[in-house]
Amino acid sequence: MSQSSGDFDVDLFVIGAGSGGTRAARIAAQHGARVMVAEEFRVGGTCVIRGCVPKKLMVYASRFADAFEEAEGFGWHLEKPSFDWRKLVAAKEKEITRLSGLYVQNIEKAGASIYDGRARVAGAQAIALADGRTIRAKTILVATGAHPRVLDHVPGHELMISSNEIFDLPVFPKRLLVIGAGYIGVEFASVFTRLGSQVTVVVRSRNILRGFDDDMRDGLREAMTRAGVRFEFDNTVAKVEKGPDGLAATLADGRVIACDVILNASGRVPNTEGLGLAEAGVRLGDNGEVCVDDASQSSVPSIYAVGDVTDRVALTPVAIREGHAFADTVFGGKHVRVDHATIATAVFTTPEIGTVGLTEQEAIRQYPLVDVYAASFRPMKATLSGREEKTIMKIVVDGKSDRVLGVHILGEDAGELAQVLGIAVKMGATKADFDATVAVHPTAAEELVTMRMRQRRHEKPLEEAHSPGLADC
Ligand code: FAD
Repeated sequence: MSQSSGDFDVDLFVIGAGSGGTRAARIAAQHGARVMVAEEFRVGGTCVIRGCVPKKLMVYASRFADAFEEAEGFGWHLEKPSFDWRKLVAAKEKEITRLSGLYVQNIEKAGASIYDGRARVAGAQAIALADGRTIRAKTILVATGAHPRVLDHVPGHELMISSNEIFDLPVFPKRLLVIGAGYIGVEFASVFTRLGSQVTVVVRSRNILRGFDDDMRDGLREAMTRAGVRFEFDNTVAKVEKGPDGLAATLADGRVIACDVILNASGRVPNTEGLGLAEAGVRLGDNGEVCVDDASQSSVPSIYAVGDVTDRVALTPVAIREGHAFADTVFGGKHVRVDHATIATAVFTTPEIGTVGLTEQEAIRQYPLVDVYAASFRPMKATLSGREEKTIMKIVVDGKSDRVLGVHILGEDAGELAQVLGIAVKMGATKADFDATVAVHPTAAEELVTMRMRQRRHEKPLEEAHSPGLADC
């Protein structure tokens, strides 16, 4: 017997009003579904409240330090500028509150209702609310995101903070120790160095930003070192204690680093604990993530999941795409799938990294013939400012078809460039298409269409090459 809508309180219950959940709730409601969405913290989720948005505002704040310094070379004279952390935190809070309000308005305008509190799965088609009510839902969408990993094996780990807390520190840290050099770790290291902290980054491996192109990693590490960041490679924090003056972090090699704040940026874990998913029969992966198919459907047909909780590509625009595709497919009568290949992204350090497609190292593993075009130059602005600065650009090309497989940039506005380059790379542009494009002069980006000299050619027997594919859950 098929179930009618009348058997349920709602057609869709969304757990989590972050990037993915909000979009799904709104679009499903616009398709005529009766939708309820639960949020236990603040509507808008990680990106708006304690992720991309406040981070980018702080990146802007940090870059004034460079601008003041550079201005002198262009004839300006400034009195010594000073910085007020509390003023920045208050301004940031005002902006994210405004954005969160807009999210609430948009959800409600679409006809969905919001429950302010925690929700839990209580069966394949049932939700338990924190106030004791049970909601019968025809379809459930898990969009609960992820949380910072806790290093509970490290004595004193409770003295560390995570990215959740760093945006609202009551006092600006003079000395900051960052654990981890993924994009979140290096972004905060870059921001706090420019705002005036003495920053040390402790990295388990030998370089920053695992998974990014090696030239970008090396170039950024050098730039950050020049800016004053101290890296402790091949090292970990073994113990944290309260010291006579702040905190004391003992490294694995025995040295002790004194600091005011320790930011644990060692990774993120999907929010599935205590959510009732396993009990309802939903298959979870090794990291606790919800295993889903290409329609974001879990092993229980009435339960779907999108965004960071699925541990596919943990980025806001991806969560939004997945939420939208889910709503269009399940409630809009369309068949929409998200293509997770060739997603452009940025690291908002100073200098920035903008990247799309395969790194040189990935391309070599996947293609028999790979050509690399690269340029490293001093940006025009640095000539008068006197700043030691390098822009690095790199195009990775399939040597057989001439198709551009990846483009990587380290330099000013690299994130903005990556967005536009993403279109060309997604469309399958060849190196010849890049070359046929007339340059915009004088820009840094003109280098992308004027690189003629091949720097490296990697060749390997065809049988060793394999095609890219999405990892299994
Ligand atoms: P979220 O946005 O995390 O939303 C999940 C929501 O569910 C949360 O609001 C949470 O409170 C709620 N919730 C969880 N459990 C329950 C429950 N049981 N009941 C009710 N509510 C619940 N991405 C980018 O693309 N660009 C960036 O520059 C960028 N910078 C980042 C910087 C930082 C510091 C961090 C931490 C992340 C950053 N990200 C960035 C990643 C981005 O924030 C996430 O990929 C995105 O927010 C994922 O969206 P989501 O909908 O999956 O989850």
